[in-house]
Amino acid sequence: MHNVRAKYASADGKHARMAAGRVDGGFRYAYADDLIEFGFYDIGHKFMTRKQIDCTQRNDRVYEPSRREFVSSCVVAGTAAALCSADASAQDESAIPIIDSHIHFFDPNRPQGAPYTGPPGVPTEPSFPPRYRKLAVPLGVVGAIKVEASPWVEDNLWALQVCQTDEMIVGVVGNLQPEKPEFVEYLDRFAKDPLFRGIRYGNLWGYDLSQQLDNPTFVSGLKRLADADLVLDSANPNIKFLQAIVRTTDLVPDLRIVVDHLPNLEPTQQTLAEYNQLLDEIRDRPNVFVKLSSVIHPVNGKISKELSPYENRLDTLMQVFGEDRVIFGSDWPNSDGVASIDEVFGVVKQYFAKKPRSVAEKYFWKNSIRAYKWTKRTPNQPSIS
Ligand SMILES: [Zn+2]
Repeated sequence: MHNVRAKYASADGKHARMAAGRVDGGFRYAYADDLIEFGFYDIGHKFMTRKQIDCTQRNDRVYEPSRREFVSSCVVAGTAAALCSADASAQDESAIPIIDSHIHFFDPNRPQGAPYTGPPGVPTEPSFPPRYRKLAVPLGVVGAIKVEASPWVEDNLWALQVCQTDEMIVGVVGNLQPEKPEFVEYLDRFAKDPLFRGIRYGNLWGYDLSQQLDNPTFVSGLKRLADADLVLDSANPNIKFLQAIVRTTDLVPDLRIVVDHLPNLEPTQQTLAEYNQLLDEIRDRPNVFVKLSSVIHPVNGKISKELSPYENRLDTLMQVFGEDRVIFGSDWPNSDGVASIDEVFGVVKQYFAKKPRSVAEKYFWKNSIRAYKWTKRTPNQPSIS
């Protein structure tokens, strides 16, 4: 599974890349020109097979070996054929492009610092696109949405400027307060940037969605958000929060809402009936999406990196929201507080590997387009035609 390597190199040798380790990450390299040399190595770096692709003949200039190509190149390699066919099935599944709809950037080294600088218990480290890219690309990520990590209004602009620098980032969910008199002015200004995909408002930063729903100014701000075709992200889930989500859709039915991290809400004996009733209410509200994120979380005080303790909860949420309203998000680097990014991806990849490929595609990228309406910035980002 882990002992095949692939290498790409342009004919002038300037763009050599080695994809080490797993071969199921999906090989996608874009070159500006000429030939790509493509081959497979064994773990000892012995060339098993090689092939050249004329990139000038390709419109998108992105090369991704098909399953057939992958297997046939392995057959050429003879003794490694069996090894590669096992890998080929894994590649087939994991070649689904991934849009990670929930990541955070912040810079604790700014003179002003930052309101959020990572999860407790993890050494503080600035979070910028290059750090994420290095971790996420090998996992199959081709795009990501940065969700707010600061209530400072100027951090909306900071986030847009940081995300502008890396085409992997397809959206920014900002932080504006619809109850404030300046909300409309800010919204109109930020909405001009196509990266700006909405705001997050729930119970973080001392906000109280539930209470604000009684405030006509707040509700008219949400209507303005819906009119701008933008999204309300919301966290963190508890029973009162779910009640507020239901009320929000009653008040602003056209607003697309993304409920963040719902898998980590564990109802108690006392709250289970109400939890189920609220999910029933949400079931028939087509504009409410859910991020099946924060899947790895403490259950009875224990954090498991296996799928099994979380599987029933995921089944329930899949059944409530259906395959068209579930979205992937890693919550990196906040997720570092409970598990490595590989483990975070691993659990949901394992869960969706059991589902039809069409369902996994909806979860890993298609539904993020339906919810956020982001536009692609690179040729390897998928789009719904
Ligand atoms: Zn988060």
